[in-house]
Amino acid sequence: MAKITLDNLAHSYFPNPKSEDDFALKELNHVWADGEAYALLGSSGCGKSTLLNIISGLLVPSQGRILFDDVDVTGASTADRNIAQVFQFPVVYDTMTVRDNLAFPLKNRGASASYVAQRVQQIAEMIGMEAELDRRARGLTADAKQKISLGRGMVREDVNALLFDEPLTVIDPHMKWELRTQLKSLHHEFGHTMIYVTHDQTEALTFADKVVVMYDGRVVQIGTPEELFEKPEHTFVGYFIGSPGMNVIPAQVEGNMATVHGSSLQLAQRFPTLNGNVALGVRPEFVTLTEGDGLPVKVRRVEDVGRHKIVRAELFGNEINIVANETLSISPDMNRVVFDPSRVNVYVDEWLKEGEAA
Ligand code: ADP
Ligand code: MG
Repeated sequence: MAKITLDNLAHSYFPNPKSEDDFALKELNHVWADGEAYALLGSSGCGKSTLLNIISGLLVPSQGRILFDDVDVTGASTADRNIAQVFQFPVVYDTMTVRDNLAFPLKNRGASASYVAQRVQQIAEMIGMEAELDRRARGLTADAKQKISLGRGMVREDVNALLFDEPLTVIDPHMKWELRTQLKSLHHEFGHTMIYVTHDQTEALTFADKVVVMYDGRVVQIGTPEELFEKPEHTFVGYFIGSPGMNVIPAQVEGNMATVHGSSLQLAQRFPTLNGNVALGVRPEFVTLTEGDGLPVKVRRVEDVGRHKIVRAELFGNEINIVANETLSISPDMNRVVFDPSRVNVYVDEWLKEGEAA
C-alpha cells in the first residue's frame, strides 16, 4: 500500500500548450493518504481518466511528478508501480476459463498453486461467479466479462493501489449495488488505497471516504460527503451534489446583510466588501416555503418523491428549489421563502467566501 503524492502535476494532450485551456488536467498538488478510499467525481470530459491514467502510469504527465511513498515513479511503468486497474469495458482473455482469467495476475507473480486456488475461489464468491469458473470467457455476457475484469483487479492482495475507471458502466443496475458493496468490504478487509472514478454522485458518496470533485480539468474540492454537502467550496460542487442541487442566487452582501433584488436578509456571518460576482448558495433542504415574511416566489410545480416533496418555484425570474416535508400541504398563500441563515454560503466568482461570525 502506498501514499500517493501529486506534485505540481498537469497534463496537456497538445505538444505545445499555449494557455490553461489547452490542459486537460490543470495544475494539481495533493497527497492521497495511504489506505483511503477515494472517488473521483465529475461530468464526462472533466479529466478523471486523464488523472487516473497518470497515477497508474498509462500516461506520462506533461508537467510535475508522482511519488509513491516518497519514491518518484513519474517515469515508471504500471507494472513497476504495482497497481491494479479496472476499466470501463471488460478486458479478459476470451480463450481462457473464468478461473484462469482470475488466476492470471497471481500466477504471473509466481504465487503458489494452493494460494491461487483458494484466492480465486474467494474472489469468485465476491463477484458471484463460482458456478461459471470452468467456463471459457468467450460467449459470456458483457456483464459477466466485466465481473471477471473486476475480479482480476481485486485478486492481488499486495498491490500499492487499486484503480477503477467507471467499472460498473456495463453492469446490470441491481448488480451494481451488490458489487459496490463488495468493493467496500474489500477495502475494509485489505485497506488498499482505492481510487474509484465515476460521474454518478450516489456511487461516489456511498463508496468513498473522500470524494474528489473535478470540474473542467480542475480539482475543485476534496472532502467527505458531509463536507461536500455543507460547505461546497465551488458552486459546481453545490450544484452537482445533492438532488436537487444547491440554489445559487445572485446577491449583494454588506457586513452581515445580503440583498436580493432589493429585499434584504440576514446572514450568520459578516463579510468585508466583496467585489466580483457575488451569490448566495443555499441547499433546497434549508429553504422554507411560508406565508409570512421572506423573499417572494411563485410556485411552479410540486413533485412528490416519497420521503419529501420538491417544490419548483421562481424567485425573481430564476428557478429555486425547495425540499419540503411530505406532510406539508402547499396552499396558494405560500408565496414567500426564508433561508436558514446558518446554512447560507456566500460565493464570489463561484468560489466559497468564508466570513467572520456575525
Ligand atoms: P473524463 O474521464 O472525466 O470523461 P478525460 O480525462 O477522458 O475525461 O478527458 C479530459 C479531456 O481530455 C477531454 O476534453 C478529452 O476530450 C481530452 N482527451 C482525453 N484523452 C485524449 C487523448 N488521448 N488525446 C487528446 N485529447 C484527449
Ligand atoms: Mg473517463
